[in-house]
Amino acid sequence: MSEQQFQQTVMTELEQRMDGLSKLRKPFPAHLISKLPKPTKAQTDEVKADFRKGERCGICGTWHHPKVVHLDYVGHAALTDRLLDADPYWSWEPVAIEANGAPMLDKDGGMWIKLTVCGVTRLGYGDAQDKTGANATKERIGDALRNAAMRFGAALELWHKGELHKDDDEPVKPPAPKTMPTYPQADFEKNLPAWLNLISTGKKTADQIIAMVGSKATLTEQQQITIRAVHQVEAPTGEMSEAERAEAVAREMKESQQ
Ligand SMILES: [Zn+2]
Repeated sequence: MSEQQFQQTVMTELEQRMDGLSKLRKPFPAHLISKLPKPTKAQTDEVKADFRKGERCGICGTWHHPKVVHLDYVGHAALTDRLLDADPYWSWEPVAIEANGAPMLDKDGGMWIKLTVCGVTRLGYGDAQDKTGANATKERIGDALRNAAMRFGAALELWHKGELHKDDDEPVKPPAPKTMPTYPQADFEKNLPAWLNLISTGKKTADQIIAMVGSKATLTEQQQITIRAVHQVEAPTGEMSEAERAEAVAREMKESQQ
């Protein structure tokens, strides 16, 4: 294989990967989005104590308290379909296994998994929600896959809208505008003679002094006027001597070189 062919092959493979990964990010159509009831503990307890406190839900079809909120989620079949679209060779495996080869659960009954799509591996975590028995295992797998796939951007908008990420929706306070302190008048008066000396000897212009001082503290309008006004008074008004002229020219040349 020539160098060029090799580069072509690498580029093609990279493009295919990026294409597969970007497929995971496409929003799911409405008909693939299901509703997951998220009862509070109080709501669950109320219905458990008296089933008549619940009702057959018109949204998700299960029996629960009428005031339960629902989260949008993508079902296992729809997510698997999407993973296959992105990469027919996608796979997942538990992070840790028991001696008998079964996935190891943590102390909360949750399971960590590795999801690999288009050669990229990311971690995910799933739990059984309130399911028990064999259903708990299936729920844990589906939940972990959804969680790991979310790290690839799959159905991300649903996670964002849902209560799971409630904090994200809280308005972010804009940072307070950065204000500099005003220049203390006492310091201003103390430093003024030195600045005027710099200006009158041509080492600095009034603008340069204002810019320099203004980078540390805000000069009031009056302070700026003072610096400029005195400059005008102090500026040489009469004819320059030959020596002064020569010095001024030399200074200008020096400044233009800086
Ligand atoms: Zn419901």
